[in-house]
Amino acid sequence: MRLAKEYPGTARELCALDHHNAFELLTATILSAQTTDIRVNMVTPTLFARYPTPEDLAAADPREVEEIVRSTGFYQNKTKSIMGMAQGVSERFDGAVPSAIDDLVTLPGVGRKTANVVRSVWFDEPGLPVDTHVTRLSHRLGLTEETDPVKIEFALNAMVPAAERGGLSLRLILHGRRVCDARSPKCDVCVLEDFCPSSRLPRKRSA
Ligand code: SF4
Repeated sequence: MRLAKEYPGTARELCALDHHNAFELLTATILSAQTTDIRVNMVTPTLFARYPTPEDLAAADPREVEEIVRSTGFYQNKTKSIMGMAQGVSERFDGAVPSAIDDLVTLPGVGRKTANVVRSVWFDEPGLPVDTHVTRLSHRLGLTEETDPVKIEFALNAMVPAAERGGLSLRLILHGRRVCDARSPKCDVCVLEDFCPSSRLPRKRSA
């Protein structure tokens, strides 16, 4: 696929959130809501050094955690989510982040998108996170007309082998950020332009 040539690598290689284990990736992914991966990477070294395990984070003083994650925005809710997640992992999963999606989504702050990030990037399991970029590109490329993220996920799942789902999601996200911008897509430099039904370039007409 052309996107794989443009953005090569596995889901783990393409993931921009710094992490060393599933707990760190899950925490960083929760913190990445409504902010950039770069911003998250600026706070997680301090957070993970202070609270290296789910048990440590579950027992933290919420005010200290809030101060550390403040710059990622929505810091009070995010603190509740990551501490609740840490408590759930600690108490219900013996301190080990589960890999099954049905288990992951029982943790506070963990929806299907976040669960699929952890599954595909850390566990190398099938998982296709659907965010705003994946949604926009799926529509522009004519891959699906569904608007519900779960239905988009299932529609895209049917188009790619299970092992490639996480990579596809990350490639669509990168393409959405760099080329297929929400307001001004750069169709003139897009590798998908010739078959994209939403291209803004004039189509050549056959005689
Ligand atoms: S051709 Fe334009 S609208 Fe289509 S995917 Fe590329 S940048 Fe987006």
